[in-house]
Amino acid sequence: MNETNTQYGGRPSLPMQGVPQPKRDEVLGLPRVHISTHPVMAHKMTALRDKNTQPPEFYRLVKEIGMLLAYEATANLALEPVEIETPLERMIGRRLAGGIGVTPILRAGLGMAESFREVIPDVQIWHLGLRRDENTLQAMEYYNQLPHKVDLQVCYAVDPMLATGGSAIDAINILKRRGIPRLSYVGIIAAPYGLLKLSQTHPDIDIFVAALDESLNDRGYIMPGLGDAGDRQFGTF
Ligand code: URA
Repeated sequence: MNETNTQYGGRPSLPMQGVPQPKRDEVLGLPRVHISTHPVMAHKMTALRDKNTQPPEFYRLVKEIGMLLAYEATANLALEPVEIETPLERMIGRRLAGGIGVTPILRAGLGMAESFREVIPDVQIWHLGLRRDENTLQAMEYYNQLPHKVDLQVCYAVDPMLATGGSAIDAINILKRRGIPRLSYVGIIAAPYGLLKLSQTHPDIDIFVAALDESLNDRGYIMPGLGDAGDRQFGTF
């Protein structure tokens, strides 16, 4: 048992202290992992990370970055033909085949769910509440609004920070039990540790992130990161 755990010692919780972590280079080539290289994304990420960026601007940036990620993550969606009439003649167009779901992990994933809604207005939003225990970093489910009837071609679990990977792994486990044919995880910043864990636990999903950072600190925060993505979106410091 970790002696620095506040539950038992009253001292600050340092759940990642002494835990070996992979280096950035070791996870760069993982299959089905997509790390954005777009210069506009890099520009927006710098503003997002800046500690002087205030919550209204931070939330706006999360939504914009989420839209760029949504655009990348939806590039391989299935289409079906549909006959329409333009003002001039008939033609066969194409539309998305089957429903598309987005599962924001509460509460930090809410901004990114809005991004997906901007890109595809009729996405179904399924809220999932997973709270991480500050001492153990284990994810605990406290809210689940997933429908029983599922008719989706794909569902995207969205959460800005892929730190230890616990919440992302649990969210994908929960979604897999719904029998959705394809699942992806979309985040803003990943730590090598969480990225490796998620990729190894769920090698059958695609993972999209805007940036891959260096490491987790002893408390499980991504370094250099951006701090607490929920607090910074909603101003709860
Ligand atoms: N969650 C956050 O909001 N930030 C981190 O750095 C890690 C987890």
